[in-house]
Amino acid sequence: MATVLRYFGPLVLIFAVACACVAEMRSTPPTTLEIPVAARSSANFDVKTATDAWLGSVPPDKKARSDAYFEGGYWLQLWNFLLSAAIMILLLTTRWSASIREWTQRVTARKNLQTLLYFIPFLLITAVLQFPLAVYEGYFREHHYGLSNQTFSSWLRDQFVGLGVTAVLGGIGIVVLFAIVRRLGKNWWVWGAVASVVFLTITALIAPVYIAPLFNTYTKLNNARIKDPILSMARANGIPATDVYEVDESRQSKRVSANVSGFLGTERISLNDNLLNQCTLGEIETTMGHEMGHYVLHHVYKDILFFGVFFLVGFAFLDCGLNRMLVRWGERWGMRGITDVAVLPLAVLLLSFFLFVTTPVQNTWIRTQEYEADIFGLDAARQPDGEAAIDLKLGDYRKLDPSSLEEFIFFDHPSGRTRITAAMRWKKENLGLETAK
Ligand SMILES: [Zn+2]
Repeated sequence: MATVLRYFGPLVLIFAVACACVAEMRSTPPTTLEIPVAARSSANFDVKTATDAWLGSVPPDKKARSDAYFEGGYWLQLWNFLLSAAIMILLLTTRWSASIREWTQRVTARKNLQTLLYFIPFLLITAVLQFPLAVYEGYFREHHYGLSNQTFSSWLRDQFVGLGVTAVLGGIGIVVLFAIVRRLGKNWWVWGAVASVVFLTITALIAPVYIAPLFNTYTKLNNARIKDPILSMARANGIPATDVYEVDESRQSKRVSANVSGFLGTERISLNDNLLNQCTLGEIETTMGHEMGHYVLHHVYKDILFFGVFFLVGFAFLDCGLNRMLVRWGERWGMRGITDVAVLPLAVLLLSFFLFVTTPVQNTWIRTQEYEADIFGLDAARQPDGEAAIDLKLGDYRKLDPSSLEEFIFFDHPSGRTRITAAMRWKKENLGLETAK
């Protein structure tokens, strides 16, 4: 999946409304929740004291490991950007890009086919050169931090499937974009942005049905003890769901997660098997309340609007950058203008720079929606302690108590402290009303 994520980062940003968390593996599902003394209902309940009590219940070595994992991720964002930039610069300065274009012209005279033929070696060279970092990040590092139990062969299989998905979707995307550039000339960037949003929207529509099953198996959840309260909560909030799906994500990871995906009829509420095995009903309910929040608050549609504007700015930057750099280096790198597919590495370089520097903007948009979904989940499930408990489990791979600047720049979900504070504030205002499960 990592390869897909790399090329379709924005797609994931738009539609990954997953609320993931991690927990220690347990053989039997727990049935009761242990609430720290200072966070239990009392006449002098204090939000900050209760939040600190929850956060203080995490052993220091576990917190240090989670901080190290998450902070390492800050650097990985930089290394990924720099590696991708280095590969693109290599393709340009060695004129490999121009040579591949010349090869496609010898094979066929049809422009669309030339674009598609160019994309295949481009994708393969990029995937091979990115592989060392991908294997460290996706396989060794996950195992080092105890977050994955996937075998190397199974991980590798997922990478090849991801590469196949990228080849198909990326191939279609690139052919369409270059056709737009050839037909529309100067205004290509406006229609390029529109086409990208339409393309990502269609991909999101088909993803739950055609892409996700390539990586995991989805089965209908039959356990009435869990399914009934979830469907009841869905009905109470006007969600037309009749089934809840269980996904076998323990195949790849020890993380607990749930998500709502798709829209316009492909909506699907899915819980992963780790969540079902490791969390109390209260934790599961609050998680599902959060996911339903994304649905009820129309986050997918708001994302399409937001990323529509975001892409427009990105493509304007791309158009401006491409034209300037072509004037300066076009001849040296063997590129014949903006309609030449050989400019692809330069376009990827500029677009990854844009995505890299705007990371805090994207994160803040998504994090704000995640916070909205949290508030919705608290109101819908009425499980503030379940919420705090699941937030701590999420803390196995997301730093629990960062500075506000750190949260602003790097967090695409609220931190543990922010989420638990919201849960304890809800609890204080509803003292005695919530039911601990
Ligand atoms: Zn979420």
